[in-house]
Amino acid sequence: MKEVTVTDVKDYEQRHVDEAMEYIFSQYEGIIPKNGKVFVKINLVRDMSPEKAGTTHPAVVRAVVKVLEKYTDDITVGDSSGGKYTAGYMNAVYNKCGITAAVKDTKAVLNTDFSFTSCEFDGKTVRHLDITDSFLKADTVINIGKLKTHSFTGFSGTVKNLYGLLPGLVKVEYHSKFPHLSTFCDLLMDIEKFARPKIALNILDAIVGMEGPGPTNGTPRFIGKLIASPDAYKCDVTGVALFTQPMKMPLIRKAVENGLVSEQFVVETVKRMEPFYIEDFNRVDVMDDGAFLKLPDWIGRLMKRNLTPSVQVQSNCRACGKCRDHCPASAITIEKKATVDRNKCIRCFCCQELCPFDAIKLKKPLLYRIVRGLSHSRKK
Ligand code: SF4
Ligand code: SF4
Repeated sequence: MKEVTVTDVKDYEQRHVDEAMEYIFSQYEGIIPKNGKVFVKINLVRDMSPEKAGTTHPAVVRAVVKVLEKYTDDITVGDSSGGKYTAGYMNAVYNKCGITAAVKDTKAVLNTDFSFTSCEFDGKTVRHLDITDSFLKADTVINIGKLKTHSFTGFSGTVKNLYGLLPGLVKVEYHSKFPHLSTFCDLLMDIEKFARPKIALNILDAIVGMEGPGPTNGTPRFIGKLIASPDAYKCDVTGVALFTQPMKMPLIRKAVENGLVSEQFVVETVKRMEPFYIEDFNRVDVMDDGAFLKLPDWIGRLMKRNLTPSVQVQSNCRACGKCRDHCPASAITIEKKATVDRNKCIRCFCCQELCPFDAIKLKKPLLYRIVRGLSHSRKK
């Protein structure tokens, strides 16, 4: 069985994606049990059209469903988005993201079970975590992430996609409990460890990815690849190697340090993907704040404030309140427009992710720009 499969796909025309998906699954014969209950976990960060490249493209979802139909009639497609985990909220997301149309006339159904269960976790960060029943009730899971930049974590792929196993606003709660990128990555690794036994295949939709201020307000960027692996870290390392050094991403570096993926695999993948490397990709550089945690609290906070971007509400804010409702630190108030209390803000960037009007930008502090500039010139 192949560790990682990378296929070229020139666009989202259904027959092209179908052909690529057939090839991918042919590399992993026997991973889908006959007549099992399969859950297809996609990325529906929020209600946005597929052309914006923030969500798993419907053509990819349909192609996966068509392959799965050969093995089972019991296929459910779904996610828990950044907002509420209710039928009303999720139906609007399914429609806007093109997923309702994608599963039409197939054997698959959209998830309508919005229950969840508190599960025991044998992890570094948590002992219990609420997990959606759509995942728990499945025999087998196909995890389809979207390759994109992410203002908080640097990138989003198949491991980050598993954060969507937490129901609705529980995600907000855990952003608040794990405000530092370093410990948030530990939490993601715990979730991946919990989910791994059920996941037959991880697929990264990198036909058109996102660059710039992702995961929702960046710019679509053609990459032309579908990447798949039974191992989520290997899938992500391969995707990230298309636009930056994977070891620059705290999640991947931590995964290597914890023995979840080998450094040798990372080195070999960078070499393998070199011919496809996108030099002018608009990356998001993030700083691993693990070192701050070892400092006295006030110094750590001062360092974080001066070394991570801050959120700035723009004049096009329409005071809709969505950012306030999802801010894990209750740092946002709304009058004529949103206002952020900088002393409360933990810089998780959920507000930027969920603002439907792209009214939140990130401002990089001077010290951040100096440190980044020095580290880039050193590398050159
Ligand atoms: S910043 Fe965006 S999400 Fe927040 S109130 Fe303004 S428009 Fe709404
Ligand atoms: S204001 Fe935005 S970045 Fe700050 S804590 Fe709230 S959601 Fe996170």
